[in-house]
Amino acid sequence: MNTTPPLLITIDGPAGAGKTTVSKMLARELGYRYLDTGALYRGVAYEVRAAGIAADDDAGLERVCRSLKLEFQDNRLTSNGADISQLIRTPEITMLASAVSARPVVRQALLDLQRDIGRAKALVAEGRDMGTVVFPDADLKFFLDASVRQRARRRYEQYGAAGQQTLERIEQEIRQRDANDSSRDVAPLKPADDAVIIDSTAIDAEQVVAKMMAQVAAIIP
Ligand code: C5P
Repeated sequence: MNTTPPLLITIDGPAGAGKTTVSKMLARELGYRYLDTGALYRGVAYEVRAAGIAADDDAGLERVCRSLKLEFQDNRLTSNGADISQLIRTPEITMLASAVSARPVVRQALLDLQRDIGRAKALVAEGRDMGTVVFPDADLKFFLDASVRQRARRRYEQYGAAGQQTLERIEQEIRQRDANDSSRDVAPLKPADDAVIIDSTAIDAEQVVAKMMAQVAAIIP
């Protein structure tokens, strides 16, 4: 029986650090829900593209966000009822998500939705600003990092062949997204002051989760 109290755990970090794999494993181990906030930004990007709106057209972005209804159903993402889980994983939507996520109007629109999902706790939330902005009072915050080369290699092994992208192209895309995410004015990518930083360059997902579980055990009374 799972006796862990309902904690809110955040995992932030750059693209390809292994957040999704680790978050899902940790959530499963604890019997918690899992929140992929990157998917929400990708969902906005998908609808922005469908509406033919430019990534810097704030009035247009606001219109899209206002009419948007993003929901998770069994870890599938739906937008106004349609399953867009696969459609948001293309290289084009990836880069557009990176661009629209820098616009304050988009970040503001997604804030309440994320906090609503976190209200009941028993949640592992992954993203870029979980510990700094969305859930500053989280029970446990992690920042998962790894070298750019290693992150690109993992992405390549995960999607490379299917995505028809070279390792060099993926590394370039990751560097671009890191630069976008770290340099934006609102909610830039950075560890929260009270985050536990884990470098996964030389360790695998199981070892990362073991380190996280040790931190969970340390805060349980
Ligand atoms: O995590 P994922 O790669 O799916 O995120 C897609 C994009 O959404 C990221 O490149 C980042 O720009 C943005 N994002 C964000 N804040 C989050 C999660 C994702 O800005 N909390």
